[in-house]
Formats: sequence, structure tokens, C-alpha cells
Amino acid sequence: MYDAAIIGGGLAGLVNAILLRKQGHSVILFEEKEYPFHRVCGEYISNEVIPFLKSHDLFPQELNPSNITKFRLSSTSGKLLKMNLDLGGFGISRYAFDQWLVNKAKELGVELHEKERVNVITFENDTHQLTTGIGTYKSKLLIGSFGKKARLDNELNRKFVSKKSPYIGIKYHIKTDLVAGDVIELHNFSRGYCGVSKVENETFNICYLSHRDNLKKYKDIPVMEKEILHKNPFLKRLLTESEFLFEKPVVINEISFEKKEPVFNHILMSGDSAGMITPLCGNGMAMAIHSAKILSELAVEFLSGNIDRKKLEENYSSAWNSTFSARHWAGRKIQKLFGAPASSEFAVSLGKGFQPIAKYLMSKTHGQPF
Ligand SMILES: Cc1cc2nc3c(=O)[nH]c(=O)nc-3n(C[C@H](O)[C@H](O)[C@H](O)COP(=O)(O)OP(=O)(O)OC[C@H]3O[C@@H](n4cnc5c(N)ncnc54)[C@H](O)[C@@H]3O)c2cc1C
Repeated sequence: MYDAAIIGGGLAGLVNAILLRKQGHSVILFEEKEYPFHRVCGEYISNEVIPFLKSHDLFPQELNPSNITKFRLSSTSGKLLKMNLDLGGFGISRYAFDQWLVNKAKELGVELHEKERVNVITFENDTHQLTTGIGTYKSKLLIGSFGKKARLDNELNRKFVSKKSPYIGIKYHIKTDLVAGDVIELHNFSRGYCGVSKVENETFNICYLSHRDNLKKYKDIPVMEKEILHKNPFLKRLLTESEFLFEKPVVINEISFEKKEPVFNHILMSGDSAGMITPLCGNGMAMAIHSAKILSELAVEFLSGNIDRKKLEENYSSAWNSTFSARHWAGRKIQKLFGAPASSEFAVSLGKGFQPIAKYLMSKTHGQPF
């Protein structure tokens, strides 16, 4: 019997595993893929996480992350807003960062099962039982960090899966001299937006969220990019003048921003499994890390016998809601300003004329350093 089993080894799962193991608890972590691998993600992490990461020796300085202090926003027609970021962020590829955290977790004694997918979960006699294609495992605690929308969500019959999501996400790594290393750019196009910023090794991430109708209309990605994204002059230059480092893009479907439950059938959800913020806020990773901090601290209280399961679940739900709910709500509202020609022109004009309003909107989706 393990103290904690964790399903999903993204940032939320890995940070939970490391923090629980550091407190001496036995931890088994399941990841269905094999590290290292690329994920669809803008790879810009808000600096709010730096004090926490540094305090646990988890800031990946040796990977040479970029330091991002400026923001550029363009409307679908290419009108540009320039701003400094109050808090800023750093850029690091998930390929490198996740692998670096995996090494830390293994050194600490986390039992990592890669290429092992959890298929069935049951809870009986105060114990979780997990079944994979390889074996059956028992744990006192179960953390669900299986991301934005996993097959397990269907199997668990979570409410949000019944609502189809219209968004797809697409990512490349490129070499370019069109973007400065200390800037994050966000370019609107019809029914979508695209972020560009530097990660490590003089490489840039280019990642966009699009309504799936754009792809349905043009059938393949290069044609869709030419017909839709190229209408924004910044995107046209980036997509036609950069050196592309992947043979083909990394693509995901069904990105859901629906409300979820932080605790479901006694599974403590962390990161995107508990709720996903719209990517334009550039905050999902910081929130995944923060939720792991909150959850693992309460889990230690439970495993040490200081609180019972009911109290653990109540305290975690209420801490999650008070820390993140307002940011999710603001993210959903601000998302509506993007991707439609008229509202993206309005958002850029508003930001140009009234920078305090733009900064206020940004602050509603960003957290404070922790
Ligand atoms: C287009 C786009 C751009 C984004 N850009 C940014 C950005 O610039 N900055 C930012 O902060 N955030 C961004 N995000 C959000 C960010 O990527 C997520 O919030 C973050 O990755 C959440 O981490 P996580 O650990 O919760 O989930 P994930 O990193 O998704 O990890 C979940 C893991 O669970 C595994 N898994 C699933 N099911 C099982 C199973 N049954 N058994 C075993 N393993 C399983 C998966 O393989 C996966 O590795 C973006 C998201 C999108 C879609």
C-alpha cells in the first residue's frame, strides 16, 4: 500500500510527487507517455512561481530559461499594443522542464511508472485501488493530475465531459530573429490567437488556439494557416520566414475550459484536472504548480493523522476555490475579447489608449508570487 498514488506526470503530478516524497511519504506516479516528450503549451511560466520553486530547489536555472518582461498584442488586422509586464515570466520547454523534474523525483525515490496508463479506479474500505494494463496498486490517497481532458474523465463520468469543446491547440518550435528574447507576443486571428516567446537554447515557441471550424473549413493545417493566420501580418512573417524545428506540429483537440470539481469520488484533482484556465492568460502552469503546493501540504496533514479524509477534502476544495475560481472566471470573460475581428480591434485600442485598464485585466488572471 502506497501513501499516495498520482495519475499523470505533468507539472501538477510531478510537483505533488516531489513534495510528498520530500516529507517521507511513499509515492507511486503513473504517466502514460514516455519522457521526454513535447506538449501543446506556450511554455511561458508566470514568475509568481519563482519563490516557491527556488525554496524547493526546483527552479531550472541550469536549463537556461528565457526572462520575459514585455508584452506585445496584435489585433486580427495587425494593430499593435506594447506593454511592460508587471510580474513577467520565464520561458522553458516542457520537453526539458518535465524531464528535469522527473530526474529530481526519481532521485528522491518517487516510484515512476512510465508508459503505464491507469484505466480503472475504485475506492473501498478507505483505500484506492488502481488498475493499469500491467498491474493493480493500492494507496491511501489518490491525486488526479491527468490534465485538461483525459479518457479517465469519461470513465469517471465527470460532468464537464458531456460539453464538447470547440478548440484545438497547435505548437511548433522555431528559430527566428523576428521576436526579441524578452517579449511574449500574442497575435489574434479569426477565431483564435497565437503566442510566441523564447524558451531555452535560442529557440522560440509558437503555439496557437483555434476554433476547430477553421480546420474543418480548410481540411489541413498549412492551408488553414495560409488562409486564416496569414491575414495577421505578424503571423504571416513568423510562419513564412522562420526555421521550423519539428517535422510536423504537435496538435491536440477538445481543449475544455468548463468548470470542474477539485475533489471527485475522493480523488484530489490538481492542475488542469481540477480546472483549466484559458491559455491566453499564460497561467495554467503556474496554477498547476500552485495547486500542487496547496494539495500536498494538506495531504501531509492527512497522512500524518492530523486531519481525517472528510476534512482533507473540504479544506482542499475550499482552498482551491478561494485561490483559483476568480481567475478562471476572469480568464473565460477576457477570452471573449479575443479571436473575433471587432473585439480584438477593440481590445488593442482599449489597451493602447488606457494601459491601466489593460494592466487591470491582466492582474485579474495573474496570481501573486507564492
Ligand atoms: C494551446 C495552449 C497553450 C498554453 N500555453 C500556456 C502557457 O504559455 N503558459 C502556461 O502557464 N500554461 C499554458 N497552457 C496551459 C498548460 O499547458 C497547462 O495548464 C499545464 O500543462 C497543466 O499541467 P498539468 O500537470 O495539470 O497537466 P498536463 O501537463 O497536461 O499533464 C497531464 C499528464 O497526465 C497524463 N495522463 C492522462 N491520463 C492518464 C492516465 N490514465 N494514466 C497515466 N497518465 C495519464 C498525460 O499523458 C499527461 O502527461 C496552455 C495550454 C494550451 C492548450
